[in-house]
Order: sequence, then structure tokens, then C-alpha cells
Amino acid sequence: MKIAGLQKLTLLDFPNKVASIIFTQGCNLRCPYCHNSGLIPFDSDDLISEEEVFSYLKKRKGVIDGLVISGGEPTVQSDLIFFIKRVKDLGLQVKLDTNGCNLDVLKKIIDENLVDYIAMDIKNTITKYKDVAGVNVQADKLKKSIELIKNSSIDHEFRTTIIKNIHDIKTISEICSYVDGDKMFLQNFVKSENVLGKHLEPFSKEDLIQINKEMKGKFPNVKIRGI
Ligand code: SF4
Repeated sequence: MKIAGLQKLTLLDFPNKVASIIFTQGCNLRCPYCHNSGLIPFDSDDLISEEEVFSYLKKRKGVIDGLVISGGEPTVQSDLIFFIKRVKDLGLQVKLDTNGCNLDVLKKIIDENLVDYIAMDIKNTITKYKDVAGVNVQADKLKKSIELIKNSSIDHEFRTTIIKNIHDIKTISEICSYVDGDKMFLQNFVKSENVLGKHLEPFSKEDLIQINKEMKGKFPNVKIRGI
């Protein structure tokens, strides 16, 4: 696994768990709002070894409940499944953050019940996916990934970063409709010097309240983070 970072402790990223997070190097997408753009290239001179990660996890067993595997996009790592099995062998729970593009890997992970939580980002409506993903994606595979996660017995959530220049009530409603009543979080874009799209703007507080009002009637399981 190409691991670019280890955050030793988080109380926020794995629901109801005390966890560590690793960030894998490499992503197949180019989202203009990406706060981890340094993790997009498939290689880096600044990686940390798996052994360093496992040595830390072994020491913290009993203090942390689990490990979040985030990125970059973890499913592009050829040895992800082997790595997850090693973490599970330590008795830790695993949460996987994914953009859902790699259907085959997701299917294997779900079929073999290898993780305890999956969070999948849905970037945009299927027809306009490229506006956010920055590259062409296979829409049919994305929809299958959503279905696969929705119908699995693994705890999960879907989430969309909403951006004023890109999304509106209509597109947000369409995205929410893909998960068909499942748990979904909308998170407002946060401006930062690190993102690729310097022109992007977040929604205002008033916009978010309005979006919340509109979504609540139609999709009771959709929540906006931070309002
Ligand atoms: S999928 Fe995630 S890591 Fe990849 S470019 Fe988009 S925001 Fe960044």
C-alpha cells in the first residue's frame, strides 16, 4: 500500500469509534474541491511504510477501536484487501472511504464482509459527473456501487460535498434520489488555498437552511453537516 499519512487519533471520522486514519497515495479522480490534492498523483517520495503503521496500531490496540482507510482513493491500491485483512487480524474495525469508482474491489470487500463501515462520496448527478470528478467516469459502475453498498449489511453512509458554482436544488435532489432513502450527508464546500478550483464558492448559511428545508420533505435521511 502506498500510504502518505497517518493521523493517530480521530473521534470524528469513524462513527462512534475512536480511530486512527491512514491516507493512501493516488486517486483516479481530479475533484476541483479536493483538499488532499497532494494525494492525487499515484506516487510520491514521501510515503510511510506499512510496518510503521502496523507498529503504531499494535501499540495502540485497546486505545483505538479501528482504522479509517481514506485517500486519495484506497481502492486503487492493488494490495488493499490484503492490508485490510491484516488490520482485522489485529482485532480492529475498519472504515473505508471511497469514491465508489472501483466496483470490482468494492464488491469483493462487501461479499467477504471485510470492513465495518463504508462511506461513499457521490460527486454530482450522473450526467454531469465530470464537472466535479474532473475526468470521465463510468456512470453505470457508479450506480452499481451505490446499489451494492445500499443493499449490503455493512453500516454505511453516502455523502456529497455541495458547491454553489456547481450544484443547485435540482441537482442536489437528483443526487439524493440515487440513495433512495438511505443515510446521506451533504457537506458544504470549504474554501482553501490547497484546492485545485480556486473559483469555487460554498453555499451561504441561508442557502443551506433553504436546501435543508427542501430536502427534509423529500428525503428524511439526508442531513446537512454543520447546520
Ligand atoms: S476522489 Fe477524493 S481524493 Fe480523489 S480527487 Fe476527489 S476529493 Fe480528492
